[in-house]
Amino acid sequence: ENLQETEKLEAADERSVPDESRILVFVRLRPMGKKEKEVGSRCCVRIVNRKDVYLTEFANENDYLRLKRLRGRHFTFDASFSDTTTQQEVYSTTTADLVESVLQGKNGSVFCYGATGAGKTYTMLGTVGNPGVMVLAIKDLFTKVRQRSCDGNHAVHLSYLEVYNETVKDLLSPGRPLVLREDKQGMVAAGLTQYRAYSPDEVMALLLQGNQNRTTEPTRANETSSRSHAILQVVVEYRVRDSAMNVINRVGKLSLIDLAGSERALATDQRTLRSIEGANINRSLLALSSCINALVEAKKHIPYRNSKLTQLLKDSLGGSCNTVMIANISPSNLLFSETQNTLHWADRAKQIRTKASNANEQITQVPEGHADQVKLLLELQKEN
Ligand code: ADP
Ligand code: MG
Repeated sequence: ENLQETEKLEAADERSVPDESRILVFVRLRPMGKKEKEVGSRCCVRIVNRKDVYLTEFANENDYLRLKRLRGRHFTFDASFSDTTTQQEVYSTTTADLVESVLQGKNGSVFCYGATGAGKTYTMLGTVGNPGVMVLAIKDLFTKVRQRSCDGNHAVHLSYLEVYNETVKDLLSPGRPLVLREDKQGMVAAGLTQYRAYSPDEVMALLLQGNQNRTTEPTRANETSSRSHAILQVVVEYRVRDSAMNVINRVGKLSLIDLAGSERALATDQRTLRSIEGANINRSLLALSSCINALVEAKKHIPYRNSKLTQLLKDSLGGSCNTVMIANISPSNLLFSETQNTLHWADRAKQIRTKASNANEQITQVPEGHADQVKLLLELQKEN
């Protein structure tokens, strides 16, 4: 009888949170790098059953049973990708559903988290030969849009921005820093370029160019600073008519975020500049972790205002948005503590509940009795 009661209560519990959803959390292990092999790195991570991640400092690569026995270093996620997983598989599992819901007028966001060199930019942007989530999402978006409408009643706009040193920069048109403003749709960067894309082919070039505009490390001129966060925003406006000929206007926003390296700022002799940068990166990522903590504990006040990054991610973390986190890790035992740190935060992020995204939708009704007229007009337009 007690058991029945419990079951009933559990069922009621499930019903009482119908409009909440959880952040989906994925882990991606990258292959061992050439340099890592040269210095004799051992593999300290094992992915099992496409879900479980085992981490140990001491095991050799085939010591799976021993990994399994270790306690406290076992994590489980919505899916975990091994070092042989393709870009397409990562895209399909993590982001394809969000693209679909963006077309329904909902918001979605995907962010990559992890230490420098863990594979965030590879996952998000990728290379010309192996495009990542950003490019595959836009390709898929265009395919889906074309399947649904042959008469061009959609628009896709791209914005690409950087947060570096608590300054927001337009990566598609670098110039003066942008100012953040709050409006009805959430936080917006005033004056940000909204590039209208007509085909997926132009997008890779555009994003690679944008990535070139990311702030570079002062000491290594060609390398992107590990302290820079890059955010791609894809806004899809979609106009359809329902069966009663009413016009439905849907706007969905997809944000794809390549976060700065999550490792602690390293000591360096370039003290002044680096320590300012370091402080701000810590500030942004620290603010992100305090927000995650506050959200997990369901606090009333979430400290979004503490950094530019959290201001921009506000509607992705706590708002009406479907959110995905991809935690990137290296297999090398030399990066053990970074990996452990990344897995810790990824594990914590699993507990964040977000409000399930509502569709941003506006309906313009045809005046009563005019539906047939509109239908006829549209038919005539098609014939011409
Ligand atoms: P991050 O952006 O996290 O600092 P990168 O994405 O630049 O790291 O990755 C570091 C290096 O590892 C790059 O040379 C990248 O091409 C390579 N790499 C990362 N992930 C993969 C992967 N899944 N497969 C092959 N190479 C990868
Ligand atoms: Mg990077």
